[in-house]
Amino acid sequence: MDKNKKISKSKYVAGLQCLKYLWYLINDPQAIPPYDEVTQFIFQQGHDVGNLAKSMFPGGIDIEFGKDINAELARARELTNLVGSIDNSRRAGSTATRARVALFEPAFTYKNAFARADILEPTGTDAWNIIEVKSASSIKEVNKHDISLQKYCYEGAGLKIDKCYLMYLNRDFIKDGPVIDPHRFFIKEDVTAEAEILKEGVEENINIMLDAISRTACPETRIGKNCYNPYDCPLKQICWSHLPKNNVFELYKGKESACYFYQNGILEISEINELSMLTPTQLMQYRAIKENNVYIDRDKIRRFLGKLQYPLYLLDFETFATAIPLFDGLKPYQAVPFQFSCHILNDCDSEPQNLNFLADGTDDPRVEFLENLKKALGYEGNGGSRETRDWRSLSSQCENPDSYPGDNSGNGPGDNPDNSRDKNPRGSILVYYESFEKNILKKLAEAYPQNTWWLEDAISRIVDMYEPFGNFYYYSSKQKGSASLKNVLPVFSSQGYDSLEIQNGQVASLRYLNIVFLKGEKEPDTAQIEKIRKNLLDYCGLDTGGMIYILRELYKIS
Ligand code: SF4
Repeated sequence: MDKNKKISKSKYVAGLQCLKYLWYLINDPQAIPPYDEVTQFIFQQGHDVGNLAKSMFPGGIDIEFGKDINAELARARELTNLVGSIDNSRRAGSTATRARVALFEPAFTYKNAFARADILEPTGTDAWNIIEVKSASSIKEVNKHDISLQKYCYEGAGLKIDKCYLMYLNRDFIKDGPVIDPHRFFIKEDVTAEAEILKEGVEENINIMLDAISRTACPETRIGKNCYNPYDCPLKQICWSHLPKNNVFELYKGKESACYFYQNGILEISEINELSMLTPTQLMQYRAIKENNVYIDRDKIRRFLGKLQYPLYLLDFETFATAIPLFDGLKPYQAVPFQFSCHILNDCDSEPQNLNFLADGTDDPRVEFLENLKKALGYEGNGGSRETRDWRSLSSQCENPDSYPGDNSGNGPGDNPDNSRDKNPRGSILVYYESFEKNILKKLAEAYPQNTWWLEDAISRIVDMYEPFGNFYYYSSKQKGSASLKNVLPVFSSQGYDSLEIQNGQVASLRYLNIVFLKGEKEPDTAQIEKIRKNLLDYCGLDTGGMIYILRELYKIS
C-alpha cells in the first residue's frame, strides 16, 4: 500500500461507488472517456452556483489552486490560525489570520485524506463550519459521505469543526429581479450528526481504497447497481461491453431484477427461468425475444388510434433549464420552452404541413413561444381549421361562470377583445410522453394567465403517442427495452437521429444556450449560428416528423 497516496473527496465518493472506477481514476485515467459537453455544462452550472454561494460571505478568501500544493496547504493553515504567518505584512489577505473570515476551498490533509471544503465559515471564537454547496434541489446520501471525509480530514488536521452543512437549491425560489438573493436561493441543511456517524468509517474506507489502488491489476468488480448509483459511471462503455444483445439490463424498468439475474449468471433475457419475477410488460418483452418476433396487441392499438381526431397536430417542444434562473418568474431548473415543431395532418395519408418556432434573441423566449404556439394550434390567425365552441363549456370549469379559467379580467366572452376566444379548434394534439408537454403548458398558463383559456383547451386535446409503447401494445426487441421515441422510431423507419448533428434534447438545449448566451472567445459567428439553428430545426422536426412514420405504421398494423 502506498502510504503517500491521498484520497480527495471526489476520489472518496468514486471509491465508495466502485473500487474499480477509483483504480482507473488513479492508475489509468486516460482510459476513462472524457466528459461530454452535457456533463461539462453541468459542471459549469455547479461552478456558477458555487460562486453565488460564495457571495453570501463577503470578504471571504478564495485560496487559489496553484501548482504548489504545499504552499496552498500552508496558506490554509495560516488563514485558519493553525500556524502564524511568517511575514503577514507581505501577503494579500493575511489580516484574515486575525479577522477569521470565510475561506473558499482551503486545502488540508490528514493521514491519507485530502479535503477542500467549498466554504469554511468561522463560528464562535475558534471554530469553523464546513459548508458543501450542491447545484441540485435535493441532497443524496453520498453528499453526507463527502462531507464526512472533510470533517475527518479537517479535525484530524487540527481544526475545531462545529457544524457541517449541505447547501442546495431552494426549489421554491422564484427569480424576481436582476439580482439573485443567495439567502433565498439556497437551503442550508445541518448534517452534522450524520457526518459524525459516517466519519467513523472514513479511515477504514480510505485504507480499503488505498489497498485497491496500489495493486497492479484493477479490482474485478461485477457490474450492477453501483454502475448507475449514485452516479452513472463513465466506465460503463468498458465494463458493460461484454453484454450480449437482448441482455437482462434491457428489461423495461427492470434494473433491480437485471442485477439479480446478472449476479445469478443470467445474461440474456431469453435465459430467464424465474418468470414470476417479471412484470407484465417485461413478460411481453421476454416473449417477443423468445419468439424472435414483435409483440402486438391489435385491439389496444386500434382503441388508441380511435382516440385521434383529425386534423392531427403532432407537437414537440424543446426546452432548456439552468440552475440559476435566467428570467423573472422562473424557479431553479425550470424548463423554459424555446422551440417547437408542429406537423399538421388533415388525415392520416395527407401531406403534412409543418409549422415551427425557434426563439431568437436574448429575451425570455416564452412570450414569443406562446404567440407562435397559439397560432400553430389553431387558436389564432392562420392556425388551420376551427370550429365554434360554446364559451360556457369552458366557463363551467370555473367557480364564477362569467369568467374564463385563468382570466383575471372578470370579463365575459362578449367583452373579450380577442374574438378567437370564442373559437376553439378541433383535432387532437399528439405528443410523445405527454407529462412533459402538459407540464410546460401548465407552467406557461401560470406565468401568463391571460393565455389560460386556450392552454387548458390545448391540454385537453392532447393524446400521448407513448401510450402504445409504454404500455407494450407494441414491442419489438429492436427497441432494447425502451419506449422512448429515439428507440421506437428506428423500428418503423430508416429515418433516425444518427445522421443528425443534434441527436438528443440535452444537446439541443445546450446548442440553443450557446448561440443565444455564449459570449467571449467561444461566441459563435453568424454562419455558425445559422448552422446551429438549422440543426435545431432538423432535430425537433424529426421528433414530430418521425411520429408521422410511426402513426402510419400503427394504422397498417391494426
Ligand atoms: S461501470 Fe460499474 S463495474 Fe465498471 S467501474 Fe463503473 S461502477 Fe465499476
